[in-house]
Amino acid sequence: MESLFDFKWSDLGDIELGRPNLGNSTNVVNYRLLQYSLMSVLKKYYGNKKAKQLLREGGIVAGIEFCKNILNIDLCFNEFIAQLTDVLIKLRIGNLRVEKSDLSNYEFTFVISEDLDCSGLPIKGNTVCDYDEGFLKGILDSYLNKNFIVEEVDCWSTGGRVCRFEARISNEN
Ligand SMILES: [Zn+2]
Repeated sequence: MESLFDFKWSDLGDIELGRPNLGNSTNVVNYRLLQYSLMSVLKKYYGNKKAKQLLREGGIVAGIEFCKNILNIDLCFNEFIAQLTDVLIKLRIGNLRVEKSDLSNYEFTFVISEDLDCSGLPIKGNTVCDYDEGFLKGILDSYLNKNFIVEEVDCWSTGGRVCRFEARISNEN
């Protein structure tokens, strides 16, 4: 699946070359600082709904490139999910569990605990992992060559303690 945006994995640069001493790891607070400060600016200029959509689209772009560059899409579905689970742990993104998997109807429920984006956030009553919705969509779209809708239905910020994402196929396929 080709992205409609100009972002490429190579835009991330050679981190080992550039950070020989500080290395490839950082604190989660930096990730969240970028995400939530950027989100506040997007909300100010575009409103909440549009800001969430923009973050979700960023996630889609990321998911497509992530799938292309990090994941082996030649694996069967179960092996692909096992690989994705391993990679998400290795990159300290979160612990993925598949709660429901109906490959024939393209319906899945994914649960991510210790999620990078929201674990430990104040409970505000609305889901905040818009980027992750897009990220999972980008991965699923790329791997299964379909047009998925991914919706977060539970989030730490809704009191869920985990993020739960429901994925289904769009009628616009
Ligand atoms: Zn969440």
